[in-house]
Amino acid sequence: MNYTLPEFLAHAIALEREAADRYLELADMMEAHRNDPVSALFRDMVHFSQLHHDSIVERAQGVTLPQLRSWEYRWSVPPEVGGEEAFDHTLEAYTALRYARENEVRAMEYYTNVGMHSTEPEVRRLASEFAAEETEHVAALDEWLARTHRPSATWQSDPDRSRPA
Ligand code: ZN
Repeated sequence: MNYTLPEFLAHAIALEREAADRYLELADMMEAHRNDPVSALFRDMVHFSQLHHDSIVERAQGVTLPQLRSWEYRWSVPPEVGGEEAFDHTLEAYTALRYARENEVRAMEYYTNVGMHSTEPEVRRLASEFAAEETEHVAALDEWLARTHRPSATWQSDPDRSRPA
């Protein structure tokens, strides 16, 4: 992933925008389920994604950004949800957190890869910085997962199920 600075900034902006949108949906869903603590967590994540988005947009002032294909930055959707449809409205807090974590890991890996492989020093610097932020997000979700009841009903849709033990 040897991105130029405009390519990298375009991806980072799209990625943070996508994260903010998905977290907003998750926050609303948890609110509808009367799970206020997890809803508040997701609203914090919306806030941080927006702040990050805005600071990257600022950094991109005067830079002509390329158009991106949606698959390059969109969150991955659990297979049982499928396509562009809204989330499963029965999604439990545990599953929502797992889902968010999976996408944060994807963002972290993306930034880490760019940080390691880009030949442009500025891209490497920014990507490493963003990777560190995503690492913190993953850690925050891990903390929440550790204290969230894991309902047996969601076991079937748990991403861990498909992984070798
Ligand atoms: Zn993040």
